[in-house]
Amino acid sequence: MKPTVKDIYDLINEIAPFETAADFDNVGILVGSHNASVSRILVALDATEDVVNEAGSLGAELIVTHHPLLFHARKNLTEEDPEGRILCEMVRSRISLISAHTNLDQTEYSGSACCGRLLKLKDLRKASDYLFLGEFDEPMAAAQLDSLLSKALRFPVRRYGDGDMKISTLAIAGGADDGDWQLAKSLGAQAFLTGEVRHHNALSAVMSEFVLFDGGHFGTEGPLVPVLAEYLQNRLDDVKCNVRVFPSQCAPFGRT
Ligand SMILES: [Zn+2]
Repeated sequence: MKPTVKDIYDLINEIAPFETAADFDNVGILVGSHNASVSRILVALDATEDVVNEAGSLGAELIVTHHPLLFHARKNLTEEDPEGRILCEMVRSRISLISAHTNLDQTEYSGSACCGRLLKLKDLRKASDYLFLGEFDEPMAAAQLDSLLSKALRFPVRRYGDGDMKISTLAIAGGADDGDWQLAKSLGAQAFLTGEVRHHNALSAVMSEFVLFDGGHFGTEGPLVPVLAEYLQNRLDDVKCNVRVFPSQCAPFGRT
């Protein structure tokens, strides 16, 4: 017997309870039918037009994304804007959508934790709602981390701060979280990897002898996609229901 969309929702709920999502967020089953049966699942960071086409060519009845659609209220559903086209195509193709966003950000399946594991940080730990902290084997000059981070994330990383600064503890918050750099510093980190660094935060951090790394929103959260896909595949294999889970191959901004 094939699982339903709601069954997959329940599996995600076990590792990242949807009720823990931030108030502003929009998570859960956002498109389709709770009772639709599922034989193929595509996991992606965003439900872009390319991702919906990828799901169609794989025969996937369900897309699981990190970022939600319908984040802002809509007053129509026409094909005159990208989100409208995506939603119409999903409905036409009978593809459902589950999004696990800030509920996932707080878990070991977050982009932050996945980046920490890619960087082989020691004692990787959750230090606040959305921040993870870990240590390098030995302190490294910030300039040395430029290429190490870019290679691990497969995305060009930009540094703000003194290249000679010695970094032993790195804080990570994938996605858009540069406002937390002071929290990262207060937790004992010498540097903070996040996905979007605004100019005023870069200036303040540098003047406080702190280092910010901008790994891109896609670069710092993309690593969660194969990890979430593997979790779902393992859980579905356990109950022998012959469902295949695919991590999306779409990279909207390219890779290094
Ligand atoms: Zn994000």
